[in-house]
Amino acid sequence: MDEIGCRIHVLAIPYPLQGHLNPMLQLCKRLTSKGVRITLVTITSARLSVQNQFESIQIEYILDDDNIEAEGSNDSEKGAAHFKRIQIAVSDNLAKLVEEKASSGHPVNIVLYDSMMPWILEIVQGQLGLKGAAFFTQACAVSAIYNHIHRGTLKVPLETSTILLPSMPQLESNDLPSFVYNPGPYPDVLDLVLAQNINLEKSDWLLFNSFDKLENEVVTWLTERYPIKTIGPSTPSMYTDKRLKDDKDYTVNFFTPDSGACLKWLDTKETGSVVYVSFGSMSDLGENQMQEIACGLMNCTCNFLWVVRPSEESKIPRDFMFESQERGLIVNWCPQPKVLSHRAVGCFMTHCGWNSTIEALSLGVPMVTMPVWADQTTNSKYIVDVWKVGLRVKASEEREMVTREEVERTIREVMHGEKASELRSNALRWKELAKEANSEGGSSDKNIEEFVSSVESTHS
Ligand code: UDP
Repeated sequence: MDEIGCRIHVLAIPYPLQGHLNPMLQLCKRLTSKGVRITLVTITSARLSVQNQFESIQIEYILDDDNIEAEGSNDSEKGAAHFKRIQIAVSDNLAKLVEEKASSGHPVNIVLYDSMMPWILEIVQGQLGLKGAAFFTQACAVSAIYNHIHRGTLKVPLETSTILLPSMPQLESNDLPSFVYNPGPYPDVLDLVLAQNINLEKSDWLLFNSFDKLENEVVTWLTERYPIKTIGPSTPSMYTDKRLKDDKDYTVNFFTPDSGACLKWLDTKETGSVVYVSFGSMSDLGENQMQEIACGLMNCTCNFLWVVRPSEESKIPRDFMFESQERGLIVNWCPQPKVLSHRAVGCFMTHCGWNSTIEALSLGVPMVTMPVWADQTTNSKYIVDVWKVGLRVKASEEREMVTREEVERTIREVMHGEKASELRSNALRWKELAKEANSEGGSSDKNIEEFVSSVESTHS
């Protein structure tokens, strides 16, 4: 124990994207409640609005550059260059940082890193002689699919359109992560996501942002092969765990959040009357698609709160906000977990990013799913067919997008249709189970405690 009573010191390195930083920050927060000192290394200049009420989290920025967007003539090249810059920033700074911590009297015991950066493990184990814990910020099902490809039990290119994998429901090819069935402009991304398998084989600890009861069968399948631990849902604990309710500003934002006006606006709406719409931090929907969504929202006559990032704003019909001002509010970014936990929100129209999915599940909100790419397709499959907390919009083959009629129909169905009460009661059940997993003695809480004790025992 050090002078503020910390059991161990963890150096945490999240991947610098919103959907990776958020769960890592929340995991760090949870670790501090187990007496862990954290140094959170961010590879970005985006300032984290972490309140310093927890002495045991310190933030280090290792790339002071306002624009981590890298050069390249197409998306694939830009992605590869971005990845390379992250690799250089970490490789150049990690040893120095670890040395500084040791000489300031707080030696690092372990490096906790995002599973998308398995090369960190080589530095940690090889160069620094430390141990590493990989943190997977995707569903266990998605990790298992990547593991099947790695093992050769799922061949890519796919040989059949129906996929049968142990511990999973029957999948159609387009229920798999999009990189598997349609690499599109990102042919190299499949290799990047598959490289996560290195962690499964070499990392000293394997932490997953999920909880046992949510992915029971696939967790068992993975556990029989690798020593994985589920520690989720890694969402702001103030919503699920009253012991930690003082973390209201414990967020990271690459975008400027709405100052709270959207919460006040929600206060004026009836319980369960609002559709919250967000496609996450990276979506880039076509202009026609955005217009269909706008018209669908208009026609469904519900209230709606729609997150449209500044880069997407020009895609919305010009008179749309004027016409919908009574019922609708558009913001560039919002405190999503707070919005999802607001009584006025009746459903969430989502792109099914893993954080959005697990936040909605742990806050008991039914979903309208509209996956776009990456693992969103698999998450949507589970939301609709396994957890039964949502319905998916179907794209019109003729128009190659989701029409306004389909948006309207699906929202109405989830809000008020025949299945609405079943979806809601399933969602509330998952909320209870998520809470149970994170509560003292729950599966995720126990796993976090075991992880800390096990790191501690290797250093005592
Ligand atoms: N988010 C937010 N405000 C918004 C939209 C999203 O705070 O207006 C958060 C959301 O709560 C989630 C993250 O951004 O934690 C998005 O992650 P996700 O995995 O859902 O999608 P991605 O952005 O990675 O596609």
